Amino acid sequence: MTKSKINLLGLNQEQLTGLLATFGENLYRTKQLMQWIYKYQQFDFNKMLNLSKKLRQQLQESACIEIPKVVKQDNALDGVIKWVIDAGAGNFIETVYIPEKDRGTLCISSQVGCSLACTFCSTGMQGFNRNLSAAEIIGQVMMANLYLQDKGKRISNVVFMGMGEPLLNEKAVYPACDLLLDDLAFGLSRRKVTISTSGVVPALLRMADRIPVSLAVSLHAADDNLRDELVPINQKYPIQELLAACKVYLNAGTQERHILFEYVMLDGVNDSSAQGKKLAILLKGMSAKVNLIPFNPFPESRYKTSKKVTIEKFQDVLFAANIRTTTRSTRGEDVDAACGQLAGKIIDKTKRTKK
Ligand code: SAH
Ligand code: SF4
Repeated sequence: MTKSKINLLGLNQEQLTGLLATFGENLYRTKQLMQWIYKYQQFDFNKMLNLSKKLRQQLQESACIEIPKVVKQDNALDGVIKWVIDAGAGNFIETVYIPEKDRGTLCISSQVGCSLACTFCSTGMQGFNRNLSAAEIIGQVMMANLYLQDKGKRISNVVFMGMGEPLLNEKAVYPACDLLLDDLAFGLSRRKVTISTSGVVPALLRMADRIPVSLAVSLHAADDNLRDELVPINQKYPIQELLAACKVYLNAGTQERHILFEYVMLDGVNDSSAQGKKLAILLKGMSAKVNLIPFNPFPESRYKTSKKVTIEKFQDVLFAANIRTTTRSTRGEDVDAACGQLAGKIIDKTKRTKK
């Protein structure tokens, strides 16, 4: 049984060095071990022949390299791939691959469910179950990479935009980011790894110093009244506090930083030109870009997607204020590749058969 064994996929370079030090090994060994795992994708300690027999045995006894169990894979017609992963105890998480002309983005989950209950989000509607471990987070990337590389495809970007709020799981998300950036692991540049948050301000302030990845902020409304309703964590950390933390993030680090503000377009709720103008005023002078996300409907939701012309009008208001704005294209619709949807369906099915 591997239950009590430590899954090495969850350890960043420093943590792995700490573990190996308990066996009397040094940094040189960490590098060899990481090469086996990430470069050669060799998960059998016995085949790591440049490690001593004694170390291989010690690793065998106390550690493992385990990839999450995929229970369902859907390939959409547009190339989007969605995996549903068994998170134990009847829970599921999802990972989505979105190929584009010049890149391949992997959207990963950080928690099973989410406690923040945004009213337009199906993950939020499921409630919170538990945090994922760093090994389960990196496991999603490893699993997808193993599948994609065989097909000649590549993960160029990783975004924490699957299920869960990454900044409520800092303990696992930061070491996972370390590994995504580490040349001995996935070696992605800091611009190609994005944490998306609904605005957990104290964690955002810590993140600004701890990890040099890109930031996306789920704003979705330009005034506190509406944001309190759509993104309830706004009642605790209102817009001005959130934007102040965003400014700290922008000024931290040694390289130039930008923020992507996400804005889900909900018909008749947050999509008027007046609201667009308010948004432009809020973001004035910030190193920011806005991404308008057409709302992805799901059965229990009370919202509708904004009309195409309304989205275009809203975008024009932002353009007029010189704010860089893009509209996210809807992808993978035939496999429900929106946040939390497929995992939600599986849970429903389980409930139905239990009745
Ligand atoms: N918890 C984090 C990251 C996961 S959600 C966050 O909220 O930022 C990733 C993005 O998907 C967020 O911008 C979120 O607001 C958006 N989202 C959630 N449900 C959606 C839906 N039904 N349609 C469109 N976007 C949605
Ligand atoms: Fe959680 Fe993000 Fe969904 Fe809000 S949008 S409920 S923070 S996963």
